[in-house]
Amino acid sequence: MSHIVVIGAGQAGASLVAKLRNSGFDGDITLIGAEPAPPYQRPPLSKAYLLGEMELERLYLRPESFYSDNNITLRLNTHVDAIDASAREVVIGDERISYDQLALTTGSVPRRLPAAIGGTLEGVHVVRTLEDVDQMATEIEKDRRVLIIGGGYIGLEAAAVAAKKGLNVTLVEMADRILQRVAAPETSDYFRALHHAHGVDIREGVGLDRLTGEGRVTGAVLSDGSTLDVDFAVIGVGIAPDTGLAEAAGLEIENGIKTDAHGRTSDSAIWAAGDCASFPYRGTRIRLESVPNAIDQAEIVARNMMGENVDYIAKPWFWSDQYDVKLQIAGLNAGYDNVVARPGEHDGSMSFWYYQGDTLLAVDAMNDPRAYMIGKRLIEAGKSADKTVISDPSADLKPLLK
Ligand SMILES: Cc1cc2nc3c(=O)[nH]c(=O)nc-3n(C[C@H](O)[C@H](O)[C@H](O)COP(=O)(O)OP(=O)(O)OC[C@H]3O[C@@H](n4cnc5c(N)ncnc54)[C@H](O)[C@@H]3O)c2cc1C
Repeated sequence: MSHIVVIGAGQAGASLVAKLRNSGFDGDITLIGAEPAPPYQRPPLSKAYLLGEMELERLYLRPESFYSDNNITLRLNTHVDAIDASAREVVIGDERISYDQLALTTGSVPRRLPAAIGGTLEGVHVVRTLEDVDQMATEIEKDRRVLIIGGGYIGLEAAAVAAKKGLNVTLVEMADRILQRVAAPETSDYFRALHHAHGVDIREGVGLDRLTGEGRVTGAVLSDGSTLDVDFAVIGVGIAPDTGLAEAAGLEIENGIKTDAHGRTSDSAIWAAGDCASFPYRGTRIRLESVPNAIDQAEIVARNMMGENVDYIAKPWFWSDQYDVKLQIAGLNAGYDNVVARPGEHDGSMSFWYYQGDTLLAVDAMNDPRAYMIGKRLIEAGKSADKTVISDPSADLKPLLK
C-alpha cells in the first residue's frame, strides 16, 4: 500500500493531509511535527490570542480526534533529522520511516538577533510558535516597557496588543519607514498615525545597536546613540524559509525549496508547499508567507500526489488586524510606480490602489471590505480599473467588474 509522509504539522501540512483523505486517498498517511500542539493557526498568535481574547482550543485547525478518525498517523513532538532521498526514508533519531511520496511543509523560522548584541538575553522574544507567545504573554502587564524591533506586520501587531494592554511601547524600524518592504508610503503613514494615536513611540530610520542586561534584558542602545530602559523586547525582523532538511537531502533551493507549478521539487518523489516553498508565478519565481497560500498550495500538491496534473495559480491575499482596523491586501505590489488613494464610506476607512502604469497590481484596504473585494476580483480577472473612478469616493466600483 502507498505511504505518504508529510514533514511539518502546521497550516500547509494539515491542509495537505485533509485534502488527501477527502479526495479519496486510501493509503497510509503520516504527518510529523516538531511542536507539541496539533496543527494550529498562527495569525491569532499576534492578535486575539495574545490579547487573551481567544482560547487555545480555537487555535487548533481541527480537533486532535480528526487525525485518528481519518486514519492519519499524527506524530507530534517529533523532529525529523534527515531525509534519505535515495532510500526514500525519513530519519528520526535511530528510526527510519519509508515513504512512497514525501511532502515538505516545514514553514519558516524567525530571524533572531545574535548573542553578541543581546539576542539571547532572557526577556527577548520572537513570535512564531504557540510556545513563543505563551512565554511572551507572561510579560504583558500594564505599565511595563516593551521595545519592539521591526516595523513589519508582526511587530506592528505586537505593538497594538501591548498598547491596548496599557504597556509603554517603543518600536524601532531601521528602514526609513514602517512597512517599507511590503507597502507604499501611504499605507505606512496610515498605520504610523494609528499607532501614534494609541501612544506608541515609533522611531523610523533607527536601528538597534544592542540590547543590554545581565542575564535578562534591561535596556537598549539604539543606532542614534539613544538609550532606553526596557522590561522585555520583541523581535519582528522577518523570517527565513525552513529549508535545512531539503538542502541536506540535495534538493534544489531557490528562495525556498524550489518547486515546479505542480509543487514537485527537484526529486520527483518529494513535494513542498507553504512558507518553505518557492514556485513559478507570472514568469518569475516567488514565495509567499500567508495562510491562504499555505492552504491553496497544499491542496494542489495533495491532488497532484494523487496523480492529477494541476498547476498552482496563486491568488495572493493577506490580512492584518491592529486595534480596530482590519487591513486586507489583494494582489502583489512588486513593481508598482503609482498609488491611487480612495477614501472609504466610514471614518478611517481607506484604500490604496497600486498600479504599474495603468495596470492594477494590488490593493491595501483599511476597514473597507468592499474596496478589497472588488480590487481582488479585478486583479484575479487580470482587469485594471480607471484611476478617475477609483479616486472618486462617490463613484460606484461595481460596474468596473463588468
Ligand atoms: C504571529 C504570526 C502572525 C501571522 N499572521 C498572519 C496573517 O494575519 N495572515 C496570514 O495570511 N498569515 C499570517 N501569518 C503567516 C502564516 O501563519 C504562515 O504563512 C503559515 O502558518 C504557513 O504555514 P506552513 O504550514 O507553511 O508553516 P507553519 O504553519 O509554520 O508550519 C510548519 C511546521 O513544520 C514544523 N517543522 C519544521 N521542520 C520540521 C522537522 N524537521 N521535523 C518536524 N517538524 C518540522 C514546524 O515546527 C512547524 O510546526 C502569521 C504568522 C505568524 C507567526
